[in-house]
Amino acid sequence: MAASPAAWKAELVKEIDGKQKMAQEMVDMIFSFAELGFQEFETSAYLKKILRENGFTIDSSINGIPTAWIAKWGNGKPVIAIGSDIDCIPKASQKPGVAYHDPIIQGAPGHGEGHNSGLPLNILSALALKKIMEREKIPGTLMLWPGVAEEQLGTKAYYIRDGYFKDVNACIFTHVGSNLATGYGDNGYTGLVSVKFTFKGQAAHAAGAPWRGKSALDAVELMNTGWNFHREHMEPTQRSHYVITDGGDQPNVVPSEASVWYFIRERTYPKIMQNFRDCIKIAESSAAMTGTTMTYQVLGSAWPTHFNQPMAEAMYENIKQVGLPVWSREDQTLAVAIQKEVRSGAPTDSFPGLPTQLSPLFLPRDPSFNLMGGSDDIGDISWNIPTVSLYYPSNVPNLPGHHWANAITMATPIAYKGVISGAKAEAMTLLDLFINPVLLDSAKAYFVNVQTKMTKYEPIISEKDKPANGLNRKIMEEYRPEMKKYYYDPSRYKTYMEQLGIKYPTVKPGSDQ
Ligand SMILES: [Zn+2]
Repeated sequence: MAASPAAWKAELVKEIDGKQKMAQEMVDMIFSFAELGFQEFETSAYLKKILRENGFTIDSSINGIPTAWIAKWGNGKPVIAIGSDIDCIPKASQKPGVAYHDPIIQGAPGHGEGHNSGLPLNILSALALKKIMEREKIPGTLMLWPGVAEEQLGTKAYYIRDGYFKDVNACIFTHVGSNLATGYGDNGYTGLVSVKFTFKGQAAHAAGAPWRGKSALDAVELMNTGWNFHREHMEPTQRSHYVITDGGDQPNVVPSEASVWYFIRERTYPKIMQNFRDCIKIAESSAAMTGTTMTYQVLGSAWPTHFNQPMAEAMYENIKQVGLPVWSREDQTLAVAIQKEVRSGAPTDSFPGLPTQLSPLFLPRDPSFNLMGGSDDIGDISWNIPTVSLYYPSNVPNLPGHHWANAITMATPIAYKGVISGAKAEAMTLLDLFINPVLLDSAKAYFVNVQTKMTKYEPIISEKDKPANGLNRKIMEEYRPEMKKYYYDPSRYKTYMEQLGIKYPTVKPGSDQ
């Protein structure tokens, strides 16, 4: 029987290596469900079933979000939470293993962000660790949770606001990347408020009596124009973008209702809130100019992320022990072909394929610069509980992101290998957290004395805001009947690529050199 932490870590590695089939099945299955934010019904039911069968207790009444849940196993302290996002990207449907645009269903959503892999990774590491904890009678509680509607920054601030993490001592978050990596401090992400402005005016015959109409669409257009002029005078650290979700029904009816949905991003909480207030002012002015009325609804929010130094350093030691997966010739052929297809090497024309060297530990970034752009609502958790993110190499470097190209590896050996290596690094770090109280103490000390010493968390959402459960419902209703025909059937096919009849890898002639 294993008797020391080092031997237990070796045992974790062996145990996870023995679960290749389970890794492949979970990754392929969730890839085939491809569900947008707040609509992850199949994905959540599937994951909950696996966890229940493995002894976890499931609480599904989370903030009234139908696809959210928390799974727990073990008893007492410490409570360590592990989570990952589960939703996908609109219009990113793509056949896995194919290095050019070839959707499974034209226009349907797909895993163009790789969120089909994180929960499988967490389950593999949790089950391997649970076996040792049971046998060695190691006290503590493992808590698994999904990032529902991460693409809408839709839920994690609510998990925090409503107390679902109040007893948690530390949290590990996993996110797909193109290397096995972690870091600490401000990791360069923005935070944001996601807000929909709705204008109401008056309908009229657009030709017969336009003077009797008040156009809500005019208000939307004026608002966007106002914001785009304002952009020149904003700090370069901001990012903001919008889509018009309702621009009226048809040209001969003056639009009585119109909506525009904004993401307002910045590198610090005060700047996010300042820009949010400016945006509201511009919306109010647009309503005044058009004689319409304006209301707004917060659909999501995120704090910029900050990760825990002692936890990241412990995790990085484990990452060095695990190392990168061994890529096959086929894996590299697919990676290089997709890099060429989307010209990710421009302007240097170098197409490096998959990494063969570990990234260094990511160090803190300066919030007066914005080099990363994006956000993740893990930020809200990271400002309330010592948290670290683990990135694992299931995808290809230098792809556009939120794009079909980011889906092509996500049900192939590249994804499976990345998940296996990530599960090992996570399981080893979990073991450190459960058996080494000094690590938990120093994580807490960093959180209290360094991270939150000057910056105090204030929620972006108010007590009255509610999760936007209805988002994406219509899109999924439109595509789900067709998508169901392509759900992965592991009883008949070894892999999802086999089910779809895909040869691995499928590349355009000449693109693999
Ligand atoms: Zn993501």
